[in-house]
Amino acid sequence: MLPKANIDLQRLQGIGPKYQIELKKLGIENLIQLAYFFPRKVIDLTTTVAISKAKTLSEQEVVLEARIRSIHVVRTKIKRMWVVEAVLEDDSDAISVIWFNQPYLFKSLKGRKDNLIFKGSLQNNNGKIFLSNPEVHTQKGIVPVYRQTSRMSSKIIGKIIKKILNKSIFSDDVIPDDVLKRYNLPDLFTALKYVHCPKKLSEYKKGKLRFLFEELFLFMLVNLKIKQEFDSQNSPKIKESGEYQKVIRSLPFSLTAGQKSALSDVLEDFSKTHPMNRIIQGDVGSGKTIVAFLAAVEAINSGYQVAFLAPTEILCLQHYENFKRLIDDNNLKKIRLSIQTSKNKTKILQANLIIGTHALFNYRFDNLGLVIIDEQQRFGVEQRGFLLESHDFMPHYLSLSATPIPRSLAHVVFANCDLSIIKEKPKNRQKISTFLVPERKRISSYQFIDKLINQGQQAFVICPLILDGDEYDDKKSVDSEFKMLGKSILGKRRIALLHGRMKADEKEKVISEFRAGKYDILISTSIVEVGVDVPGATVMIIEDAQMFGLSQLHQFRGRIGRSDLKSYCFVFAKIETDTTRNRLKAFVRTDDGFELSSQDLKQRGPGALFDTHQSGFAKINPLWFEDSDLLKNCSEAAREVLGDLQKYPLLHEEVISRISVKHLN
Ligand code: ADP
Ligand code: MG
Repeated sequence: MLPKANIDLQRLQGIGPKYQIELKKLGIENLIQLAYFFPRKVIDLTTTVAISKAKTLSEQEVVLEARIRSIHVVRTKIKRMWVVEAVLEDDSDAISVIWFNQPYLFKSLKGRKDNLIFKGSLQNNNGKIFLSNPEVHTQKGIVPVYRQTSRMSSKIIGKIIKKILNKSIFSDDVIPDDVLKRYNLPDLFTALKYVHCPKKLSEYKKGKLRFLFEELFLFMLVNLKIKQEFDSQNSPKIKESGEYQKVIRSLPFSLTAGQKSALSDVLEDFSKTHPMNRIIQGDVGSGKTIVAFLAAVEAINSGYQVAFLAPTEILCLQHYENFKRLIDDNNLKKIRLSIQTSKNKTKILQANLIIGTHALFNYRFDNLGLVIIDEQQRFGVEQRGFLLESHDFMPHYLSLSATPIPRSLAHVVFANCDLSIIKEKPKNRQKISTFLVPERKRISSYQFIDKLINQGQQAFVICPLILDGDEYDDKKSVDSEFKMLGKSILGKRRIALLHGRMKADEKEKVISEFRAGKYDILISTSIVEVGVDVPGATVMIIEDAQMFGLSQLHQFRGRIGRSDLKSYCFVFAKIETDTTRNRLKAFVRTDDGFELSSQDLKQRGPGALFDTHQSGFAKINPLWFEDSDLLKNCSEAAREVLGDLQKYPLLHEEVISRISVKHLN
């Protein structure tokens, strides 16, 4: 953010400590954040109709400007419900109004003689037209509606924002003048007025569009700048050693076409003079890890260190165990493996393949040639800042992502990367059969699972909660599930529990013991979601599946079907809405992540792909993808400005501040 933006709210008149606390709850701590706290929506009260006219328009939404002629409150006999009834009048006619369950309205409206604004829908009761449950406002115009807190209403937030809008800092616009002119966008100051105090709906739309443009324009510019930066740096020289082929030959399987082509993309990038910045996208279970490992083998053979980042300790440990086996099996003497997590630390000094979580970003490597980022969507874009001050080259970057984003969107989201897509699953995989199971068939699904366990296979059970009564009522918890299974036919099995409140080393122990086959069933919360690989697991029960989004469900299911054995997923859910039903139906129909995501995209729009579980995408706004002109214009403008970025100091500063690569400048 711009330096001036840090102006503290404390120094502003009219915002006392109480409101500051409330604003902080909304994530607002400085002036810019306050100005950029846009309304959730606006209510258009600009066009009112006369009551006489309204009475001809039954069953439709209207805005009336009227006085209260009479008002009273009653309690219904049957349901004991409060009903406020009133008669409104204007110069043309009068009309009845009914509010259900809002007795306080009686108090606040009784005795008022002035004109008020009522917005609601007209209803027809046997020919008698009345207004039902209207909102009441005091003024005509456009009313912005803000996200509020229990102690600070939308109205007060609006008032506070209005107060600050005349500050001179809002004349500094990051978007260059010529760009604003070309795309007919209002400047910052005007646009802020338009969104927070619009006089017409068209003003609000114009203001909103300008901020959408600003967001996307900056996002694209930052991506282009990163790409430019990669292209202008020297790369570590990685020559093909051939050792990777030795490893491939030793694998118990042959690589899929997608794995091969991703690998050859990487090897080709290694031969270029500028560093690679590539993302491999492949559905869960498509075998991205081995491709990354082979890339690491080559980098190490050329004398470099490789940092391998994974989002959780469990995943780090899993990679560590896998790689250790691959290294021993192939007698890869040059590789010195190390793991660096809060619980597991092996010597890093001599190591050249270092696995770790976020903490690795703080290490100072002296010869880093390749950075691999697993489950890239978990890390976000900004964190690519490795400290490489003493070096005259920048490492290659290879990201792995299981989020299947269609190519059209990937173009924008990964604009700074080259993309390799692994389309197919390994040949030995069978389709996972998924069933939406009615409660009455619970027992028989347990019996089915019991048979599979007899054959040495393992099961996952996913629940939304850790303990009963956490957060949501009557949702299944790990704890209650454990008790329930205990009483069932599965009670005699070896059952382990996994959840976020366990200590890191306990979690790791459970996962690696489950991997080693010491348990038959693992009951877990959503923490197994990312990357965990237990080839022996072939069954999954998902409890209260209505609680999870489609992409999350797909990630869960990705924990099974990771070998040549047939796998099954049993889904239990409380289905209360059509949306839930459709989501679960789609989930049952296919186990192809790309297909699910493109369906989701069609049905729910881009918002579906960037849900809140994927924190790395927090800065991607689904609205960008709904307007093809916006995409085109922002991309055009960003490309144009990139060449002359220095000419726009404010913009330059903003772009640099968003790229936390130390040596940029
Ligand atoms: P993801 O892409 O989800 O990270 P992994 O890399 O963890 O998937 O691979 C999933 C499993 O598939 C691993 O057990 C891995 O050894 C195995 N695997 C990888 N490639 C192949 C292949 N070509 N054929 C068969 N199994 C494979
Ligand atoms: Mg993985």
